[in-house]
Amino acid sequence: MNDCLFCKIVRKEIPAAVVYENGLTMAFLDIKGINPGHTLVVPKDHFDDFASTPPERLGDIAAVAQKVAKAAMRALGAPAFNIGVNNGAEAGQVIGHMHLHVMPRFKGDGHEHWHGKPYAEGEMETVAEKLKATLS
Ligand SMILES: [Zn+2]
Repeated sequence: MNDCLFCKIVRKEIPAAVVYENGLTMAFLDIKGINPGHTLVVPKDHFDDFASTPPERLGDIAAVAQKVAKAAMRALGAPAFNIGVNNGAEAGQVIGHMHLHVMPRFKGDGHEHWHGKPYAEGEMETVAEKLKATLS
């Protein structure tokens, strides 16, 4: 047994506002979400982060996220939503158990989209080449 907070929620050792679960995946409300209905979708097995989650498990997590997002639109009247994953401390990951955020959005809710940065001359091609070389 590990001390991971989300594993404890999955094992029902710590209470959470669980909104959905199946054999592999659980969804519960973020205790301090950006909007009502902000939900965390987690694999029931422990994986540290998105990058270390086996690809074959991501499909179920994404399917549950879609189900939750559509429920938030129907049940809470959210006209839109964001899906997000913070992978690593620099990206804002706080709990070291893979989780995907489903964030219902409302007109004028005060949250900003991320701000884009333009590439320097030639930088985009260099970055694309590095990624392509690593992916192939
Ligand atoms: Zn865990």
